[in-house]
Amino acid sequence: GDTQTTKPKRVLLAKPRGYCAGVDRAVVTVEKALETYGPPVYVRKQIVHNKHVVETLEKRGAIFVEETDEVPEGALVVFSAHGVAPAVHDGAKQRNLRTIDATCPLVTKVHQEAKRFARDDYDILLIGHEGHEEVEGTSGEAPERIQLVDRPEDVDKVQVRDPSKVIWLSQTTLSVDETMERVNQLRERFPELQDPPSDDICYATQNRQVAVKAMAAECDLVLVVGSQNSSNSKRLVEVARNAGARDAHLIDYADEVDESWLDGVGTIGVTSGASVPDVLVMQLLSWLAERGWADVEEVTTANEKVAFALPRELRKDLVR
Ligand code: SF4
Repeated sequence: GDTQTTKPKRVLLAKPRGYCAGVDRAVVTVEKALETYGPPVYVRKQIVHNKHVVETLEKRGAIFVEETDEVPEGALVVFSAHGVAPAVHDGAKQRNLRTIDATCPLVTKVHQEAKRFARDDYDILLIGHEGHEEVEGTSGEAPERIQLVDRPEDVDKVQVRDPSKVIWLSQTTLSVDETMERVNQLRERFPELQDPPSDDICYATQNRQVAVKAMAAECDLVLVVGSQNSSNSKRLVEVARNAGARDAHLIDYADEVDESWLDGVGTIGVTSGASVPDVLVMQLLSWLAERGWADVEEVTTANEKVAFALPRELRKDLVR
């Protein structure tokens, strides 16, 4: 007989989770572009970093490319939510492409800050992940003034011209705690380091981290629905672990859950990244219910009401 007491099986479901206003806008932009102009609609890079979303749009006639030089002259191309460098806009113009810019307004805000502080002759220390599309786009606003700070050791490599004119900015989808560590490190080197005029880490990233933190300590396992290339989704796994979850994993689909993760587990936390449609979370909940985790309690730490208007270039054709 089993002498171990089995823990009650339950699920804590984080709220907010999943789609943010910027992702919703970007996905709807491609859908409406397909409806309005007909396929093919080219999209530079993944519109949002989610496998399911990209595959669904591909089936409807979207063609994803890495660079605008892969788009036929004169065709329609949508720029992804992560933003693009000015050089990309120039390249598209040279090829006579019709463009719709689905850059999230909160990413555009960081671009504006970068432009403004570069114009005012600051050295800009951009905290973010090397190679991420958003960081490439933001850096492209002022390549000669912006230095990327990713790992702790990058802090020592930074060179500034005038230590009294230094500002830090950041990628929108970072871990709040890790970013503050990096800022403190930078400030030890540059005591006059200025803060961004407003938070660069966006409301959605922050809210999803707060929600997962609130439940992590009670969880034996946290499952984050999201893709491997999604920065904010990956941060949720790290935040869950740091906040006391015994185990945490990132999965695209329910069938990626390794049944061995469930051994000895009572409470399972579930959340999803900002690029994840909720249908994938519902599929995970059904999968868990079939295995005994049918008791689901939503843990709400914020109610989001943010919504963004569709890109102007698209809106003018919709109202016709
Ligand atoms: Fe915009 Fe934040 Fe969503 Fe990125 S995660 S698309 S910055 S709202």
